[in-house]
Amino acid sequence: MITGASRGIGSATARRLAAAGASVALTARDEDALLDVADAIRHAGGRALTVAADVSDPETLEPLIEETLERFQRIDILINNAGVLWPLDETADADLDEWAYNVHVNLVGPFYLIRTVLPLMQAQNYGRILNISSGAAARPIPGWGAYCAAKAGLDMLTRVVAEELRGADICINALYPGLVNTEMQADIRSVDTSESSLDFSYWQDAFEQNKLLAPDDVARMIYWIVGPWGRAASGQIFKAGDETWHAQVAQDIAL
Ligand code: NAP
Repeated sequence: MITGASRGIGSATARRLAAAGASVALTARDEDALLDVADAIRHAGGRALTVAADVSDPETLEPLIEETLERFQRIDILINNAGVLWPLDETADADLDEWAYNVHVNLVGPFYLIRTVLPLMQAQNYGRILNISSGAAARPIPGWGAYCAAKAGLDMLTRVVAEELRGADICINALYPGLVNTEMQADIRSVDTSESSLDFSYWQDAFEQNKLLAPDDVARMIYWIVGPWGRAASGQIFKAGDETWHAQVAQDIAL
């Protein structure tokens, strides 16, 4: 099960895991985009199911769980990848609803899905959960209060659940995917900071210097963590910037 599978890291991961033989259940809000991803997977011989949902709203996630179990009978892997960056404002100017929505998408939604799949994974004594976090969880960035706070919360939730699961063959980890060439990065570059004290030139420079990773590269890291290579890890925060690990992934899995 992959959230945020309509584009970017999520769709690349869906294609990668489906090519490896997984039956993939895909969700995001944009139903047409999800159907395109699923069509491409089926065209390549894979199995995919789509259920449009907003991860901030548990009621819309219930059909995702039900249809996935009906069609595939089990949920072995959950990848909490859906994420939003907005609001990008200093805290004094941030909109309350936008702030709360961010936390609901980036933290409460993953909590809801983890809580829902855990009893299933415990019954089968097998499961892999991966939360797509961000370096912003560990680095305070002016203007990114909601995102930094939500991702930091996601990291701690990952570590708490890992402690709760000691002894079971259920692993839960998080990944900082690095700077990845997706719409989220384009969103950052689209913000006009000329009238504010915010400075997003770091992301503009990284883009201009061609330093962004490709979504496929991150999909390979995700495959490594939820696949057999990552079986010993739980409660870990993997980082794309960890060059030793990145090299190990590249050695174990071809792009
Ligand atoms: P993206 O291209 O903007 O994709 C975000 C995905 O999340 C889309 O599929 C979007 O689909 C989905 N989504 C957003 N809000 C949702 C909601 N309320 N309910 C369901 N789905 C929702 O961004 P990305 O870069 O691939 O991001 C994937 C993950 O990586 C995020 O968690 C992000 O925080 C993390 N990350 C990215 C970077 C980077 O540099 N790109 C760096 C660090 C961490 P719909 O719009 O169709 O709902």
